[in-house]
Amino acid sequence: MDSVLKKNLLEVAAGQGRITVMTGAGISAESGIPTFRGPEGYWTVGSKEYHPQEMATYSMFRQYPEQVWAWYLYRLGVCRRAYANEGHRALVRLEKLFVERFTLITQNVDGLHLRAGSSPERTFQIHGNIFFMRCADGCRTDLVPMPDFVEGKEKGEPLTEGDRSALRCPACGGWSRPHVLWFDETYNEEHFRFVSSLKIASATDLLLIVGTSGATNLPNQVAWRVHERGGTIVDINIEQDPFSRLAVSGGGHFIQGPAAKVLPEIVDVLKAGMRNRIKVHRPGESSCQARNSNLEIRNKSEIQMTKRPK
Ligand SMILES: [Zn+2]
Repeated sequence: MDSVLKKNLLEVAAGQGRITVMTGAGISAESGIPTFRGPEGYWTVGSKEYHPQEMATYSMFRQYPEQVWAWYLYRLGVCRRAYANEGHRALVRLEKLFVERFTLITQNVDGLHLRAGSSPERTFQIHGNIFFMRCADGCRTDLVPMPDFVEGKEKGEPLTEGDRSALRCPACGGWSRPHVLWFDETYNEEHFRFVSSLKIASATDLLLIVGTSGATNLPNQVAWRVHERGGTIVDINIEQDPFSRLAVSGGGHFIQGPAAKVLPEIVDVLKAGMRNRIKVHRPGESSCQARNSNLEIRNKSEIQMTKRPK
């Protein structure tokens, strides 16, 4: 690893600042999940072939709910067959190390971060998760997990009667819809943690951007906020992208390589930095006790003040 990068990582870990990770399709591609914006996402309805960016819209769903659901159940099958990789697992370790200093913002709807063990509280799924659905008419806004018996589809396979009834809203009996952000919809806080993501960005000291090229709005805003506040950006991707240039222009880094190889190395360095911090600030405490707390606490009165309610 580059020595300047290593020094930057150790410094952030030894401080008190926030560490945010933003992931995109690249980390899922390493688990065998295609982007669905490419050839895998094309879908035939009647005699017409639709582009993924036409399929993934509210207006398409309103017109052809069965076909849009069949497309999502095909994608669901692909996601169910995929497994989390070393990149996903490295981020689980990172969350356990830094707890409240850590946030994961993901554009991926495949749910692999949660399946790997990242917590729903600290994982902002800003484009949703296809393992959940909600009422298409918004009669209620809570999320309903996709039942296990709803099976993934092959391309062109229609819905069964069982699918149709499982995909109904349990409250009003109308269609449920996949819990994803469609191209003709806008971000919001309730479902996609829009405001929270921007707030976190404004307080981030280290942003790791993993496998995303910055094609969508919120990830761009997150990266720019960190850049403008002088945070360090490390972009990890198999090829250069607009985020690599932003990272380097702000004194950060671009690491060319797969997430499953690069992330475990970065997490190891951050872990070492965390240990240094414990040594520097808490000579009297056992490393185990210290590691279990994510707050820098120097005396008992401060413990009282900073303790979170249970
Ligand atoms: Zn409903």
